[in-house]
Amino acid sequence: SKDKGRNRYSYFSKQMRTSALNRMQTISEMRDALSEQQYEVFYQPIIDFKTGLIVKAEALLRWNHPEKGLVSPAGIIEIAEDTGMIIEIGDWVFHQTVEQLAIWRTKIQPNLAIGINTSPAQYRDGGIDADKWVEFIRAKGLDHSAIVIEITESLVLESSPSITSRLDTFRNSGMKIALDDFGTGYSSLSYLKDIQSDYLKIDYSFVKDIAEGKRSMSLCNKIIDIAHIYNMKVIAEGVESSSQSSLLKQANADFGQGYLYSKPVNAKSFEQLLIEQKTV
Ligand code: C2E
Ligand code: CA
Ligand code: CA
Ligand code: CA
Repeated sequence: SKDKGRNRYSYFSKQMRTSALNRMQTISEMRDALSEQQYEVFYQPIIDFKTGLIVKAEALLRWNHPEKGLVSPAGIIEIAEDTGMIIEIGDWVFHQTVEQLAIWRTKIQPNLAIGINTSPAQYRDGGIDADKWVEFIRAKGLDHSAIVIEITESLVLESSPSITSRLDTFRNSGMKIALDDFGTGYSSLSYLKDIQSDYLKIDYSFVKDIAEGKRSMSLCNKIIDIAHIYNMKVIAEGVESSSQSSLLKQANADFGQGYLYSKPVNAKSFEQLLIEQKTV
């Protein structure tokens, strides 16, 4: 029993040591990933429910790891936030996306807009230089309204001067704001009126249930109606089936994003999707 306890302890500590080592390994690899050009931006189409056409996209970070292949952002974003690397990575994603969007709008689709994710850590001291972002968009000849900054509600609830001043700079330039992952946190419908956001993105977890349950559907309906009252357009995330898509259309959601339309794809494939819909 005493022995067992000790064994169990050493078992757990070994586990913990391994994961701490893995984490340290990942951190040191991530430090090189930017200069080694291992990061890549993928784009996931967002369709207009009225026309079925791609009118927007979301930019999503990917890591081409030399051994592990394409690594999804879920794990690495958290490490990037904890270490502060998210500031450099976030800057890179922003610049990459703006340059790419400027080309697509000139070459293929003048009304295309792209959403860029931002973490709360990018809004602390030493984070995003909002004036530089605004200036970069101008320098690329892009309409500021073509860039949508996705923020989470935890950022809105924090509401410090360093957050509001950056968001004001974005808004004043004409850039758009989207409230991401709505419904996952402490969302209360009543605070929507205080958020000057152009878009509300209904989280995947809500959309998942609407085809099965009446309650999720009526909740979804309410969220959409209230968003519209506050002049926000609604983007439904994680649309995987055509029944979900028709229910969302019935509920007056404005835009849809999800595997039903396309997974996130690399720039070349996304460009192909834009060209195809133009020639249809
Ligand atoms: P998110 O902002 O909520 O992005 C949407 C996620 O849902 C993406 O995961 C996307 O691949 C996934 N998704 C899209 N459609 C479907 C669907 O129909 N079904 C399901 N099950 N999933 C779907 P991804 O690309 O793995 O990104 C995960 C999260 O990482 C993002 O969640 C975002 O919070 C964060 N992230 C990604 N790129 C960046 C970035 O450049 N900066 C920051 N700060 N965060 C990022
Ligand atoms: Ca997002
Ligand atoms: Ca989301
Ligand atoms: Ca998310």
